[in-house]
This record gives sequence, structure tokens and C-alpha cells, in this order.
Amino acid sequence: MNKKLGIPSALLYYIYYPFWQAFFNEIGVQVVTSSSTTKNILDKGVREALADACVPIKLFFGHVMDLKNKCDYLFIPRVVCLNGKTIYCPKFLGLPDMIRHSLDGIPPIIDVRIDARQGRLSKFKAYLEIGSYFGAGHNIVLKAYYKAWITLRRYNRLLRKGLNPLDAMEHIKNPNDKELILPAKSNLKFAVLGYPYAIYDSFISVNLLGKLKKMGVSVLTAENINPLTLALQKNCGLPKRLFWTFSDAALKAAHYLFRHGRVDAVLHLTAFGCGPDSILNKFIELEAKQYRDIPFMTLMIDEHTGEAGMATRLEAFVDMVRRRKEACPCRN
Ligand code: SF4
Repeated sequence: MNKKLGIPSALLYYIYYPFWQAFFNEIGVQVVTSSSTTKNILDKGVREALADACVPIKLFFGHVMDLKNKCDYLFIPRVVCLNGKTIYCPKFLGLPDMIRHSLDGIPPIIDVRIDARQGRLSKFKAYLEIGSYFGAGHNIVLKAYYKAWITLRRYNRLLRKGLNPLDAMEHIKNPNDKELILPAKSNLKFAVLGYPYAIYDSFISVNLLGKLKKMGVSVLTAENINPLTLALQKNCGLPKRLFWTFSDAALKAAHYLFRHGRVDAVLHLTAFGCGPDSILNKFIELEAKQYRDIPFMTLMIDEHTGEAGMATRLEAFVDMVRRRKEACPCRN
């Protein structure tokens, strides 16, 4: 393994890193990732990104800055569509261009376009092109792609069991399934909806999941729900589905969770400056109004979100839900 490939620990990292790591290791490329988010990384991103970008995009810039002197190539694919139905937010599509034209002194970017709408083999063809940067031929890429796919399936199974992506990635490194520690169940269960790169980045979410855990609340996210269950939610009462992959998944999860009522409350974590969220949050609010016995709250994050403000709102909300549940035995 002589070439080093840098993968920023942001955006699609939370969904596809196990696939990418398995693929690149199999074709003989060493993968390096940026460090976990810190204030320094976020500040660098805020300085370098466009002022009106959403906070996850600013953070991505910061992670690229963290990586730029540690690798020979940066992996920033132009991911358009992976399921043949919905596309990623336009900022994902323009990401390689934004990075290339905003940052100086960065390594060459591998920005292969991946668009599953262009035929059944389009994803594999994209990885053939990616492999060609490192001299990997058809057979090597085929083997690596298969191995990566198996790894991703295993990773997704761990998410369905209730693990969060970081714990699942840790577990993938240790193949001994007997040591799997599932999150403890508690009397209060909240759904946390939103984009995985906001929810699971404990710095930018102001440790939302950690705070809920400390308050004795167990958490369910869209990633913990079987994708077939989400697919069955169809268009959630709308004439057509939302265009954007993560927004579509969050709305379907909201629809399913409100209807089946298996949670005590629903939280929507939304990002300041996010175009798709301005629509998504409204739809989730409308859904919440139909199920008034399930409390709902929106929390917005941006680069200035303060720990104390978030903790106060969260404590008040959890307290209200707990008292409500205790007051009505039918909710226990
Ligand atoms: S979906 Fe929203 S938060 Fe995510 S990258 Fe696009 S604009 Fe930013």
C-alpha cells in the first residue's frame, strides 16, 4: 500500500465509509480519514467555505483542510443517486467543484460521478474508473467491489440492531460478533430525525445523542429502521416523494414512527441554511399535528450553537415527556 487516499469524516462518511474502506484496502490503497470534528476543524471550514453554505458543508471544508497534508489523493466523489430513485442535495453534487475552486494546495481530487439512474452497472463502472487511478484492473475491482458490498451489508445490519454508525464501524474492525454490545433499552424512547452527518457528529450536534443517553432516553434514528419498512411508506400522503435522498428517508421515518407510535417523542435536528430542510421540517411538523399524543420538537444547529441553550431545551422537553408518561398509565 503506497498511495494514501484521504476521506473526510463528514457527510457520506457516516453511511458509506465501511464500503469505501473495504474497497480501497482490497485494491491496495491506504485510507486515511480526518480526525473527529473539533472547534478548530469547524472554524477552518467556516473560514474557507461560502458564507451562505449550510453548516455540514462548512464542516466538510474543515475536514478537507485537516486532511490535505496527510494524503496523495482526496476522495470526493460526485454522488448524484445511489438508489435509482432520489438524488442527493445539490450541494453534494457540486462538492468537488466547491472544494477545488475554494482551497489552495490540496491533493488531486477523485471526483468520479456516481449516478445509479444511468443503468444497472453504473455504480460498478464508477468504481472501475476510481480503481483506474490506482492501476487496478477489472478483476481486482470486481473482487474489491464485492468485498465492499458484503462489508456494507454487515454494517447496515449492525445499524438495524440499534448501533450508531461510529460504534458499528468500530465493530466492523473487530469481526467477533459475540462481543456486540447493543444500546441499553430504557423506559423513554425518542426518535431523532435528521441527516446522519448532523446527528452522529457529536461536535456539531452538541452531543445530542450523548445528552439523551445521560437523561435515560433510548434513541431510534432512520438508520435503525429496516429500509424495506421505509420504502413501504410510499410518498407519506404527498402526490410525489421528496427529491432528496436523506430528506425522503427522514420524512418516511417520521411518517412510520408517528403512525405506529412506538416512540414517546420525536425530535427533528435541522441545519441552519439547509434548503431541503426548509421543506422537510414543514412536512414533519404537519405530520406531527396529526398525532398530537406524540410530542415533537425541532432543534436547529449552526456553527454558533451553544451547549447550554441546547441542554436547557432538551432537559425541559425530556422532563415534560417523562411527566406526561408517568401521569398516564396507558402510555407505559
Ligand atoms: S441536505 Fe441540507 S444540510 Fe445537507 S448538504 Fe444539503 S443543504 Fe446542507
